[in-house]
Amino acid sequence: MQRFAGVDYLHIDSQFNEQELLVRQTARQFVEDRVVPVVREAFREACFPRHLIPEMGRLGFLGANLEGYGCAGMSNVEYGLVMQELERGDSGVRSFVSVQGGLVMYPILTYGSEEQKERWLPKLQSGEAIGSFGLTEPGFGSNPAGMLTRARRDGSSWVINGEKTWITNGAMADVSLVWARSEDGIRGFLVEKGTPGFSASELHGKLSMRASDTSSLSLAECRVPASSMLPAAQGLKAPLSCLSQARYGIGWGVIGAAMDCYETARQYTITRKQFDNKPIASHQLVQEKLAWMITEITKAQLLALQVGRLKDQGRAEPAHISMLKRNNVAIALECARLSRDLLGANGIMDEYPIMRHMCNLETVKTYEGTDHIHALVIGERVTGIPAYK
Ligand SMILES: Cc1cc2nc3c(=O)[nH]c(=O)nc-3n(C[C@H](O)[C@H](O)[C@H](O)COP(=O)(O)OP(=O)(O)OC[C@H]3O[C@@H](n4cnc5c(N)ncnc54)[C@H](O)[C@@H]3O)c2cc1C
Repeated sequence: MQRFAGVDYLHIDSQFNEQELLVRQTARQFVEDRVVPVVREAFREACFPRHLIPEMGRLGFLGANLEGYGCAGMSNVEYGLVMQELERGDSGVRSFVSVQGGLVMYPILTYGSEEQKERWLPKLQSGEAIGSFGLTEPGFGSNPAGMLTRARRDGSSWVINGEKTWITNGAMADVSLVWARSEDGIRGFLVEKGTPGFSASELHGKLSMRASDTSSLSLAECRVPASSMLPAAQGLKAPLSCLSQARYGIGWGVIGAAMDCYETARQYTITRKQFDNKPIASHQLVQEKLAWMITEITKAQLLALQVGRLKDQGRAEPAHISMLKRNNVAIALECARLSRDLLGANGIMDEYPIMRHMCNLETVKTYEGTDHIHALVIGERVTGIPAYK
């Protein structure tokens, strides 16, 4: 397989500045040299390639679009391009970076005390510490407002009781941001590994996101100091604002997975011969699938770029990000399915990245707001009528 040279049908590269192209090249090379050689084995073994974490820290990928505390201060478009390249490697690697930056560092920076920022952000940026984000519960996924996890104040501590599940990085995390309902509404708590009453256990049996740690968190009379609460995060809008950050990265990331599937299928169909020794790419039905994919990838690139530019201008709305996440995940998943088809039997083998991407994208469709929920967000934006219940 040749080195990945990108997919740019409509000269969209001309819309990126030099710095953006440089950042993308750095991420692309990292994925080519460090992720691609190990990811198949990581997926087989259901194991996150932890040795990549400090390397990603050194390259500035962790909390990349945040300012201060050692963060790279990238623009949102630069950050999006990093996510695109990482997810070309594997959605699990991109998920690690999304959670660490968008769901742990962003809330500490936005809602945390100065002490919390100084304590955690430099370590999370370098990869010395790992973070997780605990919002989902066994009974409350799409509707986190129903959460049962409770925090009660007891002198100078908070005592937390509840269960969280499907938590990315959960078992690896040095610090978990746990959302719980208190007397004054939903609050976020930084719970450190080893705190009595807190435990994390990895979920086994996943056929998707195998190269990612997904865990359940249990909190039983878990006592944390008052200083572990994020002081400025009050109500559900705080965790939802974090999800907007992470969803934005997903909207770019999945383009990478789609590009990898498309490019693998394109190269395969040009060399694979059937019927009169002709490449299968010479058949009209095959070309129709390639044409569909390159068209949808190009539209996804334009959507991501526009939302990225809006985000850099402070004009991106959650409903814009919903359209980006929903559309781009859907087309990436369809690209994976079509590409798998074009490789015939070879398409099911992990020698090729397609089936791994396809399995991963099933998770990406569900997490950070399902396809349905983002349709409802867009529906509310254009009608003014919420239809969630
Ligand atoms: C690998 C993985 C990693 C994850 N990482 C994290 C993490 O780090 N932190 C975290 O907090 N969570 C995480 N999640 C959880 C994820 O965010 C939830 O799975 C997601 O929000 C959906 O919740 P659910 O699985 O309970 O599905 P449900 O909410 O039960 O939904 C099931 C189906 O019902 C549909 N549905 C529900 N309500 C409506 C409605 N009103 N209208 C129409 N359709 C509806 C959904 O769209 C979906 O199709 C992760 C999940 C996975 C699989």
